[in-house]
Amino acid sequence: MSITGPRGTYDILPDESRKWQWLEGLLRETAELYGFREIRTPVFEHTELFQRGVGETTDIVQKEMYTFADKARRSLTLRPEGTASCARAFIQHQIYNQPQPVKWYYLGPMFRYDRPQAGRYRQFHQFGAEVFGSNNPFVDAELIVMMVDMVFKAGLPQYDLRLNSVGCETCRPSYRQALVSFLQPIKKELCQDCRKRIELNPLRVLDCKNQGCREAVTGLPRVADYWCNDCRQHFTAVTQSLDRYEVSYTVDDRLVRGLDYYTNTAFELLVPGIGAQNAIGGGGRYNHLVREVGGPDVPGIGFAIGLERLLSGVEEAGALPVFSPDIEVYIAVTGREYEASADQALRELRRAGLKADRDYMGRSLKAQMRQADRLQVPVVVLIGEDEATRGTYTIRRMQTKEQYEIGQADLIDEVRKILVK
Ligand code: AMP
Repeated sequence: MSITGPRGTYDILPDESRKWQWLEGLLRETAELYGFREIRTPVFEHTELFQRGVGETTDIVQKEMYTFADKARRSLTLRPEGTASCARAFIQHQIYNQPQPVKWYYLGPMFRYDRPQAGRYRQFHQFGAEVFGSNNPFVDAELIVMMVDMVFKAGLPQYDLRLNSVGCETCRPSYRQALVSFLQPIKKELCQDCRKRIELNPLRVLDCKNQGCREAVTGLPRVADYWCNDCRQHFTAVTQSLDRYEVSYTVDDRLVRGLDYYTNTAFELLVPGIGAQNAIGGGGRYNHLVREVGGPDVPGIGFAIGLERLLSGVEEAGALPVFSPDIEVYIAVTGREYEASADQALRELRRAGLKADRDYMGRSLKAQMRQADRLQVPVVVLIGEDEATRGTYTIRRMQTKEQYEIGQADLIDEVRKILVK
């Protein structure tokens, strides 16, 4: 029996990888416009990092981690997300001693043992951005603006930005208490998970996807009614800044980041009309995460975008750009005796930075031309007896079918002219 890739994973074959390169390039360039620099962390970490950095009560830690013991019996986990690793690196390298804020981005695979379905994989990819060291609400706004900008540049101008504040250490305990008091009497109407959440993490009940829970919690206390002055001011400043950037948003008081060290701003970006999995990304402020994973009490905020979802959204919207052909020049020969001349031309073209290839299958001239067509090559260079004796090449412009001879020395200039390069 042949071996296939593990469930929930997929291959990005070359026809697809162009799209990924384009998307990743766009995200990198945009992040750099906003002053972010790339960090690359390992894809596995000590399990404890995620237990502390993502949180014991989350679905990720309780159900979805790829955890294994290595040969020295250490418990390691394939990263389910990127923020905890960034916080770990921030502490480990004492980046808090450098001028703040520190603005990082990352791109790479994440691993979650979830039930695979359309738009949900066990190995998927995220772009993430994190800012450490500043509690300035303008940082929150800038980060959100960058996220919207990325999705816009990818070709999805329609977005639904959900915004909330989950309060802080000062005001959240009373909100939490209000939630518990509200939820206890209706406990029976909630799903098994939410019944446990009432004690462990009642905020998480707010974003339970279960229909029964959604109905049961209508009319529950609103977090905004419990904000302290600082939280109210912070939230107002974020919204004012977004207004100045002309980025629209909907305040959604059900949107939570359900961990104790998440504070203030929480946001999620939905793209309408791309199917059920329309949450492209989300993020929030985590002013106590660095402390929680063993560092000083340094504030932070970040977001992550799911690249599979973003890319399929772009494809569904028909917003993919037209990519330039993989091969720009194809060398065709009328017989094998001209293969050495073909190699000479290839070498010259590639040295000049032109993407060039030739036939290695001993195809007939006709079949070589068909191959050039399949490759959508704009230029074919023909080499046969006449060309070899005269020291020329025949150029064929594939679009117009126009064909003419040039001196060998003019090859690069001629090809560049055709490609406008
Ligand atoms: P989260 O880290 O859970 O806030 O997720 C951020 C984004 O990553 C989501 O909005 C999705 O776009 C994407 N994402 C999360 N989990 C998966 C998954 N299992 N498969 C594909 N994309 C995912």
